Amino acid sequence: MTTIDRSKPVMVTGATGYVAGWLVKKLLEEGLTVHAAVRDPKNKTKLAHLDELAAKSSGSIKYYKADLLQPGSYAEAMEGCELVYHTASPYTLNVKDPQKELIDPALKGTQNVLAQASKTPSVKRVVLTSSCAAIYTDATDCQNAPNGVLTEAVWNTTASLNYQPYSYSKTLAEKEAWKMAEAQGQWDLVVVNPCGVFGPALNASSSTSESTNLMKQLADGTMKMGVPNIGIGVVDVRDLAEAHFAAGFNPEANGRNIIAGHNTSFLKMAQILHDEYEDKYPVPNKALPKWLLSLVGPMVNKAITRPFVKKNVNVEWKADNAKSKRELGITYRPLEETLVDDFQALINAKVI
Ligand code: NAP
Repeated sequence: MTTIDRSKPVMVTGATGYVAGWLVKKLLEEGLTVHAAVRDPKNKTKLAHLDELAAKSSGSIKYYKADLLQPGSYAEAMEGCELVYHTASPYTLNVKDPQKELIDPALKGTQNVLAQASKTPSVKRVVLTSSCAAIYTDATDCQNAPNGVLTEAVWNTTASLNYQPYSYSKTLAEKEAWKMAEAQGQWDLVVVNPCGVFGPALNASSSTSESTNLMKQLADGTMKMGVPNIGIGVVDVRDLAEAHFAAGFNPEANGRNIIAGHNTSFLKMAQILHDEYEDKYPVPNKALPKWLLSLVGPMVNKAITRPFVKKNVNVEWKADNAKSKRELGITYRPLEETLVDDFQALINAKVI
């Protein structure tokens, strides 16, 4: 049981991110003081949406310069905080050097932030934004899980530096976080494991998230020949913010928490958007045949390799979100609302 004093500041790493944006909004609306740790506090473009949110809410925001790869750089931002949200980690599938671009910031960054928590006496709880990627790599991993469903008890054992390194980075980081949490008694660790996050970006014009890239690819004709019928899970970025908030402030929050609104597929997502936007955007509504995807996939996205196609196309994705409903009180909004609001935010920001 950990109770967080709401008069104390709350630190958020990676506050500029797509996922963090809605968390910061929620914290500000709750009247809290947010210590936003960002790589470049002088980058006004990346901070504009956060400044705007702070101006409209009862809470306040202060920026601190910090980098995952720079030991000690979170010290100032963490000072006086009881609650630390560690969301920062690169989410990109197209990388040249996975060790440098994904594993190092995820793993060393987690070590850096959590070591700082142990050096900061005020810290009582750390909420880590992990991922369902720390639970599974391919949709076939769902089938191989007990009863064919991913639960918090399942760990990713199939990703590696050379195969789906993003999933590997999230697995290594979360494992390290649990190891570090168990080695001390000052703060407790609550982990949030979201599946694919979609929904309106507050930072639509500056988002670096792969979630935004995927939506852009549905709009810009990259996939006009068809979409891979890959089983995935989807959660709304706004529902995820509620989950982060509950993970931080609910005294009984604990362990890993799958945050997944819908067991669906990339094809189903495209079909929803096609029905809504077919007049204006070349959103596909058909599946790209598996053989063709094996040929063109690697050209569109490095992560779509032949083994990936084999283990994901036409395979159902299933996860159990019962813990998030029961213990974090999450109700998930409809998939249509998530996707249409996502697309509309990108249209409004003239990104697509
Ligand atoms: P994002 O918008 O690209 O956010 C990534 C954040 O990490 C940015 O704020 C970025 O800061 C920060 N960052 C990256 N490298 C850093 C470094 N070396 N030092 C300091 N900060 C660094 O991606 P996102 O989708 O919001 O992802 C946020 C978190 O959610 C990640 O942990 C991701 O694994 C997790 N997650 C995302 C999804 C999803 O579908 N989007 C699903 C499950 C879990 P800059 O602005 O300075 O680049």
